[in-house]
Amino acid sequence: MFRKISVNFLRVISDAPNATLRFFSLHQLPETHTILQKTCRDFAEKELKPIAAALDREHKFPEKQINKLGELGIMGINVSKDYGGAGYDGLSVAVAVEEISKGCAGTGAIVSIHNCLYASLVDRLGTPDQKEIFLKPFTKGTLGCFALSEPDAGSDVGSMTSTAMKRGDRYILNGTKSWVTSGLQGKAAVIFATIDRNLKHKGITAFLVPLSSPGITLGKKEDKLGIRASSTCNIFLQDVEVPEENILGPKGEGFKIAMEQLDKGRVGIAAQAIGIGQAALDMAASYSLQRKAFGKTISELDAVKMQLGKMALRLESARLLVWRAAVLCDNPNRTTKETSMAKLAASQAATYVTHGALQILGGMGYVSDMPAERHYRDARITEIYGGASDIHMSLIGSAILKESSD
Ligand SMILES: Cc1cc2nc3c(=O)[nH]c(=O)nc-3n(C[C@H](O)[C@H](O)[C@H](O)COP(=O)(O)OP(=O)(O)OC[C@H]3O[C@@H](n4cnc5c(N)ncnc54)[C@H](O)[C@@H]3O)c2cc1C
Repeated sequence: MFRKISVNFLRVISDAPNATLRFFSLHQLPETHTILQKTCRDFAEKELKPIAAALDREHKFPEKQINKLGELGIMGINVSKDYGGAGYDGLSVAVAVEEISKGCAGTGAIVSIHNCLYASLVDRLGTPDQKEIFLKPFTKGTLGCFALSEPDAGSDVGSMTSTAMKRGDRYILNGTKSWVTSGLQGKAAVIFATIDRNLKHKGITAFLVPLSSPGITLGKKEDKLGIRASSTCNIFLQDVEVPEENILGPKGEGFKIAMEQLDKGRVGIAAQAIGIGQAALDMAASYSLQRKAFGKTISELDAVKMQLGKMALRLESARLLVWRAAVLCDNPNRTTKETSMAKLAASQAATYVTHGALQILGGMGYVSDMPAERHYRDARITEIYGGASDIHMSLIGSAILKESSD
């Protein structure tokens, strides 16, 4: 059944750019994206929702489901068709990640980071030879990673200390990359390291590295608060030899490349936040219609109705910012202000909505028999990774000041 829907999905792909324009005039999703939304919604409902609690409890990676998503075209949504992708647009990434995250936020993290920070980056900057090796096999369920952060360089990534020293026609990588999503399952990573620490930001360079390379060891699986279906680990680099032809994009432009890509990656995280929030809102509304107190369902209490209304308003307004940012991301220009606004609004909405949903469930919200506590834990990461909230507020403020002074 999914395969059938997938064929439809692939058939309408060539309409995507026009569809996106229609989205702006009609203020509703184009038909192409509605088909994709239904495909992902059905998948999440049938394949993810029933196992999400177990994946969370057991910190289990959803291997079978990721492979099925690969077959559906979801693991290379906006990768060009020449390299095995679906050739779709940025809005479709947001739509797909939201639906997947509704079913399982950890799976949403895997899908979002693979698509937004690995596949679309290699598609954007890779040479044809690099794409044959590091992209084509990565659109069907094989995962790629984005290794930017380090133990002492998170918000301040420019201060990274991992080095790449030239030796003949190779670079020798040393250092530690931290918090790598899907590091334990991924087959390759874009690893950022500096070719000359004296050059500061201008020495940072991006390398395409198979994770089976000699000299790479993986750290322990981090024991996280939420999104536990996705793995997170350190990558230790000890004299890892990388051929010069594996440099991704111009040498010394790794910092710029990472910032440009994070603009796009933030849309994925924002969409994940909307999916988590929507799952919590749907569950709270449905619970309130059944739970009785003082002789009537709690949905009849004004306090509960108003709380649901506030939750829906926060979520819906954030979703519009996410869709706007997703459409703008297809433009080659930087979209930092819009993507930061979307990420900040969506992650704060998810925190607000999951908090409210847990409250509406009362005691049942506090135990793992119901998904409210999981949604509450899952939402929290969206305010941290891809840039913590304070950083985004500062980025938005700087953009406003720049616009005012221009
Ligand atoms: C589960 C998980 C998965 C991740 N996946 C990846 C991944 O796949 N690839 C990757 O490269 N990284 C990944 N990360 C790293 C993530 O992007 C960083 O954790 C994040 O950018 C914050 O960096 P930090 O943890 O070092 O916090 P810090 O930089 O130490 O910041 C701590 C606090 O200080 C505040 N702060 C710092 N600087 C400023 C400032 N200038 N102004 C105002 N406030 C400031 C921050 O807002 C934050 O609240 C992941 C992290 C987690 C937890």
